[in-house]
Amino acid sequence: MQPASSNTNRSLQDKYGGLYAFAKDVTLSNLAEERSPEKLIRLTNKLERFAEKEIAGLHDQISQIGEKAVGILPVCRLGCWHCCTHIVLATAPEILNLADQIRATWSDEEILALRARIAVHKAITQPVRDGTAPYPPRPVCPLLKDGGCSIWTHRPLVCRGWNSVDVEACIQQREHPETKVPTRGLAPQFAITDYVRQGMSEGLEGRGMNSETCELAYGLEIALDNSDAAERFLAGEDIFAPARAGIEKWN
Ligand code: SF4
Ligand code: SF4
Repeated sequence: MQPASSNTNRSLQDKYGGLYAFAKDVTLSNLAEERSPEKLIRLTNKLERFAEKEIAGLHDQISQIGEKAVGILPVCRLGCWHCCTHIVLATAPEILNLADQIRATWSDEEILALRARIAVHKAITQPVRDGTAPYPPRPVCPLLKDGGCSIWTHRPLVCRGWNSVDVEACIQQREHPETKVPTRGLAPQFAITDYVRQGMSEGLEGRGMNSETCELAYGLEIALDNSDAAERFLAGEDIFAPARAGIEKWN
């Protein structure tokens, strides 16, 4: 059964709901037997590429509308990073995929520097987990480097789903989070990644694995600390549970 997403309206569900079924089926079939970290990573990359293809199609449609598309044209550009101060929530396969990529391609010094940024991020966000923060802070994502995402091709689905049509709203929300100014994202793009993520989550549950999202920075630290994190997750261990502590307080 397709999920009724609170973030998408009926027409988006009609248009993109099939992505949910696809992602669920692919996840179930890929994790049916002989599970391995390599297989999990291939699956995650496949679903991320699938979402990207749909998003590219959406952007094509928007650009073909011409002048009338002005109010719905994404204004995002390289070097604009105000959105990279939201708390990023990601599933375990996305985090494991990231950790694998970082281990394979980053130097020891770069990983040490990342760990230091994660430590700062955790310290800033701890009052939210403790329930003492008056409103969620907006710390810079530890994966942001020199104004750009350092893991762009492996970024989580939620980051892929976010494009704004109003940069001023992004700036206002980052500089004054206490005002809770709404950001103006591209709803169909968010729907694409949300349905893919929900389908993947349902597939993970069907294979006995935890499907909930957790805090990216915290989860990444767990994955980097435990070289056997993927094997343990595939065996059904809820290894990322600490990275979900107080997660409901981010909303
Ligand atoms: S979502 Fe907002 S802050 Fe992020 S790149 Fe787009 S315009 Fe810039
Ligand atoms: S993972 Fe990349 S795109 Fe997502 S918030 Fe962090 S720096 Fe930004």
